[in-house]
Amino acid sequence: MDILNFNKLQLVSTQLETKDWKFQERCPVCNCLNLIKGEFIPGDAYQFGDATIPFPPEGIAINKCPACHLYYKSAIPTGSLLSKIFSTEAEKVWSDNYDFVDEIAEITKLTNSQSLDVLDIGVGNGCLLKSFKKQGINGKRSGLDVVKHQKLDRYLHGEFIEGLIDDPELKWEGKQYDLVTMFDVIEHLYSPIQAFRNLQNLIKTGGYLTIETGDVENYWPQTYDPANWWYVNLFEHHVFWSQKTLVQIAQQHGFSVISCTVKPHKTRKNEKWLTKIKMLVQVLGYTLNPHLYMQLKQYFGKKVIQPWNPLAKDHLQLVLQKTA
Ligand SMILES: [Zn+2]
Repeated sequence: MDILNFNKLQLVSTQLETKDWKFQERCPVCNCLNLIKGEFIPGDAYQFGDATIPFPPEGIAINKCPACHLYYKSAIPTGSLLSKIFSTEAEKVWSDNYDFVDEIAEITKLTNSQSLDVLDIGVGNGCLLKSFKKQGINGKRSGLDVVKHQKLDRYLHGEFIEGLIDDPELKWEGKQYDLVTMFDVIEHLYSPIQAFRNLQNLIKTGGYLTIETGDVENYWPQTYDPANWWYVNLFEHHVFWSQKTLVQIAQQHGFSVISCTVKPHKTRKNEKWLTKIKMLVQVLGYTLNPHLYMQLKQYFGKKVIQPWNPLAKDHLQLVLQKTA
């Protein structure tokens, strides 16, 4: 890291103010003002790449909407704080090289076509677009993200939309897509309703939307409390979905459910056995005594966060079709 970036990060670490946080007092999906107060996320700061981002003094709780069952953070970083951190750190964090072979096979089986105009939301370094190219799928390969990854142009064969999917003034070419993919994106939304309005515009009638996200009502987060789930201890994750909430918002925006699968996170299948065994040992320690596990982590100067259980099926994958 160069000196300039280091100074910038120190600034983020020491000078965060209330204006850098957005306090969520109503449900961002259904606007319900009632909320079920949840526990606070343990620790006092996020880590993102090399940046340390202290929580606001009030802490960050995981509250639940009693009406639509969405779980959401009491405080989330503003768009400008998020951009400031992403501008220096995103490329270090988004070095994903997942192959998407299974996901693309499922999609092409469904559409029965080798020619598809595809838009990947949260395109990062373009590994999904790379797979479409490699598997000979013709058509546009477009991407949307907050910043353009320097390696993306190798796989892009269409437009790059710079911004957020929940931007009320999203600027794009206007030609609707056969398929829009959102792997690990929907938990980042500030305004889920606006995002679904944009998705409705972006996708052709009869076209498909694939979503993968964490499942907050799964056994693992529910057993140890959603506030302790490793998945909420991520700076850029704002809202947490269950099947019920996702299906409801999708149907309200003209989508029908083709399939819904409960599964481990997509990258788990590529994990080496030795890594899996190390993870399982940590998970065993955590399940025997979560409090002691966290204390030991703190004692050894490690990040105080729940281990990632390689066996937990704590993610959902939905395939939706725009029918209205
Ligand atoms: Zn709600």
